[in-house]
Amino acid sequence: MVERQVIARGVKDPAVIEAMLRVPRHLFVEEALRGQAYGDYPLPIGEKQTISQPYIVALMTEALALTGSERVLEVGTGSGYQASILSLLSEKVYSVERISRVANNARKILDSFYCSNVLVRVADGTRGWLDEAPFDAIMVTAGAPKVPDSLVAQLCVGGRLVIPVGDEEVQELIKITKMKDRLQTERLGGCRFVKLIGANGWEVKGNRC
Ligand code: SAH
Repeated sequence: MVERQVIARGVKDPAVIEAMLRVPRHLFVEEALRGQAYGDYPLPIGEKQTISQPYIVALMTEALALTGSERVLEVGTGSGYQASILSLLSEKVYSVERISRVANNARKILDSFYCSNVLVRVADGTRGWLDEAPFDAIMVTAGAPKVPDSLVAQLCVGGRLVIPVGDEEVQELIKITKMKDRLQTERLGGCRFVKLIGANGWEVKGNRC
């Protein structure tokens, strides 16, 4: 998986590659899907949500340029796979998930790896995590209609935010670096994520929030 899907497509950061080699991705999917866990695609994790394609996990992680000392916010815990990769590359991960069953399942898997530097919270992550802000890096792993101002506000100066922005079908990965007096924006390519649902995302339908 790492050689063919990650390195061959241009991911270079040795720490990201090492983390992708270390985390056993099959443990983050249900047993029936374990044979496909290292395939070049996302997989369902229940509640109509998905664990992201390995390459996208690597690309987004590399874009955050982590050195090991950062406090990182992840919006969209999902399976917990991305959070566990981030946990190997930073000091502490604050991960927010809106569906409690999904969050509980991720918590169980993360505990089984002794991922003690990952906090999982059930909340609307489009509001960020105010009590713990500002963050050195923020990763949003669900597709947003626009970049939430609330997340930009919770970034340190010099901090990086990576987020898929677009319509409900396709998005573009955007990296924003917060400078002292302005925001620097880069485009990292197309992607497809499930919807970011919340106050600063897509409208809530139903009563899960
Ligand atoms: N990072 C995950 C994949 C996330 S799938 C992994 O490694 O497996 C996207 C997740 O974002 C879903 O679980 C969905 O419930 C969650 N989500 C959507 N909107 C959200 C919001 N406003 N706050 C927190 N989580 C949200």
